[in-house]
Amino acid sequence: MSVVQNHLKTIWNQTLSKIKDGGFFDELVYNTYLTNTTLYDLNDDKAIIVVPTQIQKMVLDSELGVIKDCLEAVVEQKIDCEVLFEKEGFTKKALFNTQQSNSSIMEEDKVLPNYIFDNFIVGNSNRESHSAALACAMHPGKFYNPLFIFGNSGLGKTHLLHSIGNYIKKHDPEKSILYITSSDFVTQVVNSIRNNSIEEFKSKMNTLDVLLVDDIQFLAGKEKSHEIFFHLFNELVNNRKQIVLTSDRHPTEIKGLEERLISRFSSGLSVGLDSPEFETSMAILQQKIEHHSVDPEIIDDDVLAYLATNFSKDVRKLEGALNRLIFYSINFGTSQRIDFKTALSAFKGQAMVSDRNDLSVNTIKKYVADYYGLTKQQLISKTRTKNISTARHIAMYLCRKHLDLPFSKIGEEFGKRDHSTVMNACEKIEGHLKKDESFKLAIREIENSFLVS
Ligand code: ADP
Ligand code: MG
Repeated sequence: MSVVQNHLKTIWNQTLSKIKDGGFFDELVYNTYLTNTTLYDLNDDKAIIVVPTQIQKMVLDSELGVIKDCLEAVVEQKIDCEVLFEKEGFTKKALFNTQQSNSSIMEEDKVLPNYIFDNFIVGNSNRESHSAALACAMHPGKFYNPLFIFGNSGLGKTHLLHSIGNYIKKHDPEKSILYITSSDFVTQVVNSIRNNSIEEFKSKMNTLDVLLVDDIQFLAGKEKSHEIFFHLFNELVNNRKQIVLTSDRHPTEIKGLEERLISRFSSGLSVGLDSPEFETSMAILQQKIEHHSVDPEIIDDDVLAYLATNFSKDVRKLEGALNRLIFYSINFGTSQRIDFKTALSAFKGQAMVSDRNDLSVNTIKKYVADYYGLTKQQLISKTRTKNISTARHIAMYLCRKHLDLPFSKIGEEFGKRDHSTVMNACEKIEGHLKKDESFKLAIREIENSFLVS
C-alpha cells in the first residue's frame, strides 16, 4: 500500500470510529452500510468515498451530513463529501473535474481493485474460465493468446478480467496493463482521429504488456476501429504480450465483426461461463453476506436456498436479490432474523418474481412439510408410511402444477425417484381432488400459504 493510501486509510478509520462511537446508527445499519467503505481520495476541499453497492450509495447519500461532520472533525477543516459506487468505472481525474486529455489513456490501468481471484467463487459453471484466467495472469503471453472469455451477462466476465489485471499488478508491478471496454476503445479511436493524435494513441497501445478488453462484441460495425484493433492485436501477440477479451457470445457468433478479427479472436483459447449451479450460488451468497458485514447466522438457510434457486441465472441478479433482502429487512423487517416470510415480503410485487416463479421446489416442500407437521427430509425419504407418502405426492403434484417442471426433474428432487413414480403420484392426487372435498380444501390451504399475494 502506498503512503497516500495508508494516509487515507488512517483518516477513514478515524472517521468511521467517530461515526460508530457517536451512536448515529444502529449497529446493524453501521455494519451493513459503513464498514466496507473506502476513502478513495481527498484533496483540499473534497472527499470521495467509495462503496460496493448501489444501495449503500443511496443510503449513505441520505446520511451525508453525519459522515461529513465526522470527517471534518478528523481532518480539522471544511470538506465536501461525495459517495460513489465503485463499479461506475470512474477515474480520479474525472472526480475532481480536471480536464482529461486524450493522452491520459495510458496513465491509468483502469483495473478495479475489488475484483480479484480471491473473491471469485469457483464452481463447475466457471471452473474452466477461472483456471484459464489464472494461468494467463501467472504467465502473461505464454499460454493462450488471446484468451477469450464468453458468457451471458452477469456471469463474472468483467470480474475475471479485472482479477487478471490485479494479479499481474501484484506479482509483476513493472508490467503495463490496460483494462478497457471495446466501447471506450472506439471512443478513444474516434477522439484520437479528431485530435490528430491517432499515431500517438497507437504507439501507446503498442507498448502494453497486457491488454484486457471487455465486451468486445461492441466493436461490431466499427470499421475504423476494426482496422486499428487488428494491427494492435497482431503487434501485441507477435511480441508475446497478453490479450484477454470478453464477450457475451463466442467469437464466431459476433455479427458485424470482420472475418480476420473473428479468426484472430478464435485463434487462442475460448472458454465459456455458465449460470452458477445451486452450490456455487449458495457460496456466492455466503461471500456477499460477509461483504455486507451482516452476521450470516441471522439469515435462515431456506431463505438463502430460495435466493439461490430463483435468482441464479445471473450473479448480478443474485447479488441484487440479496441486497434487496437485506435492505428490506433492515428497513421494514419485524424481527432480528431474516426468515422465509421476510424474504417473501421483500420480493412481493417485484416484476422479476411473479407469484409463480418466486416459488421453488424447496418452498413447496417446506410448505407441504409444515402443513403436515413433517420435515423436508421426510418428504424425500424412502419411507412409505401413509401420511408421509401422501404429503410427498401432494408436494410432487404442486411442483408439477405451479413450477411446470418435467416429471423426471421432480423425481430427482424427491429422493431420485423416476419419472413414472411422479406421474403416478400426480394422477393419484388429481383423482382424489375430483372426489374428496376435504382433500381439495387441504390442498387449497397449502397453496394459499405460498401464493399469498
Ligand atoms: P459480466 O461481466 O459477465 O456481465 P460481472 O463480472 O460484472 O459479469 O459480474 C456481475 C457481478 O457478479 C459482479 O459483482 C461480480 O463480482 C459478481 N460475480 C460473478 N461471478 C462471481 C463469482 N463466481 N464469485 C463471486 N462474484 C461473482
Ligand atoms: Mg461485464
